[in-house]
Amino acid sequence: MDAQPNSPEARDIRYHLHAYTNARKHQETGPLVIEKGDGIYVEDAAGNRYIEAMAGLWSVAVGFSEPRLVEAAARQMAKLPFYHSFSSRSHSPLIDLAEKLVLMAPVPMSKAFFTNSGSEANDTAIKMIWYRSNALGQPQRKKIIARKRGYHGVTIAAASLTGLPSNQTSFDLPIANVLHTASPHYWREALPGESEEQFSTRLAGELEQLILAEGPETVAAFFGEPVMGAGGVVVPPAGYWEKIQAVLAKYDILLVADEVICGFGRTGAMFGCQTYGIKPDIIVMSKQISSSYLPISALLINDRVFEPIADESNRIGTFGHGFTGGGHPVAAAVALENLNLIEERDLVGNARRVGAHMQERLRRLAVHPLVGEVRGVGLIAAIELVADKAAKAPWGSVGALGGLVNGLLQDNGVITRNMGDALAFCPPLIITEKQVDLLMQAVEQALDAAAKQVAK
Ligand code: PMP
Repeated sequence: MDAQPNSPEARDIRYHLHAYTNARKHQETGPLVIEKGDGIYVEDAAGNRYIEAMAGLWSVAVGFSEPRLVEAAARQMAKLPFYHSFSSRSHSPLIDLAEKLVLMAPVPMSKAFFTNSGSEANDTAIKMIWYRSNALGQPQRKKIIARKRGYHGVTIAAASLTGLPSNQTSFDLPIANVLHTASPHYWREALPGESEEQFSTRLAGELEQLILAEGPETVAAFFGEPVMGAGGVVVPPAGYWEKIQAVLAKYDILLVADEVICGFGRTGAMFGCQTYGIKPDIIVMSKQISSSYLPISALLINDRVFEPIADESNRIGTFGHGFTGGGHPVAAAVALENLNLIEERDLVGNARRVGAHMQERLRRLAVHPLVGEVRGVGLIAAIELVADKAAKAPWGSVGALGGLVNGLLQDNGVITRNMGDALAFCPPLIITEKQVDLLMQAVEQALDAAAKQVAK
């Protein structure tokens, strides 16, 4: 990288350790510095515009620089810039948001609890589940089952749930009591000739075997994203959630739906749970709750979870858990306005309609020599890049082709994200069909350019 000594790029290299970045390589390549955004676009310091085809981090539902959210933040900042929820204190934005979330939940829920990030929310869910087991006089019921390729965050417990090697290797994770079962990645992991239904039946059987081997009385909860995001946009195969839930119900195991990506419209319904008929006891939400304009996350819990927690807190004297910024008034005000916008502008309907168009356009790419599979639902999708379709084999090492196409797209004004060789698309929910067509044109060009390099 050839940057001036005091350019933002040079100072970034000098002073900043990046999230999810090869820190050594970054010293050579430097950052992409984004200066501003509007709608589905962001712009870098040199004035280059990009379609943000990942909505930032799967999160900017209403698009960048939405004035209504800016105004909501300013109003609340001027009125009450901070308050909290410890010791029975409360404030209007928090009460309004708690009510709104409980009433819009896809299944009957009892209470909302507020946190600042998806990771914190998942950590909180684990703590609530352990606390509940103790309250019920079942101190042995502490094991949590998550899935390989699942993503639930990076704090110590959430990273333990996450089923991806880079979140655990050299971090001395996972912690005790967290187990992983198979991921529902049909294209990658089904046996030859196995139908989606058969694959789902086998996975539910494997889950039951794991529960029996561990002792059903020791298993407290199962965590899953309706559609896996960071694990490569893994869409559940036919029958999957129905069969998994039947096993959980048989052994009285709680279900936690991590709706951090799917929640608030992404799959073409308000919640991923509705798209897949999931009936959770706890819902974890973040990202599109505020379009990530400010950090805020929440858990919804049903009475099976709330009632024992209430009893235990009464026995001990307090529910000894909470974050200074949890339910922050400015973040809560922004979340409320963001949810109003999602409803007013029917962004869930847009995700369904324009999502169908995006899925159709992406599926046309399936004939491309570098595309092994196209999968997705609503406005979330991935194409799986391969050098050899029949063998589903990568181009050299895993991620090389994903990185190449991702880089070509960035050079052509489109920001995507490759998770290995799965290239993900998760644009703002405001995207139009015309904008999807522009995005697809760029993807086709990048794939053709990559094919020339692969052929060399
Ligand atoms: N759960 C899911 C499904 C996520 O996608 C993410 C973030 N990508 C998280 C949890 C963690 O959220 P955060 O980065 O806010 O901690």
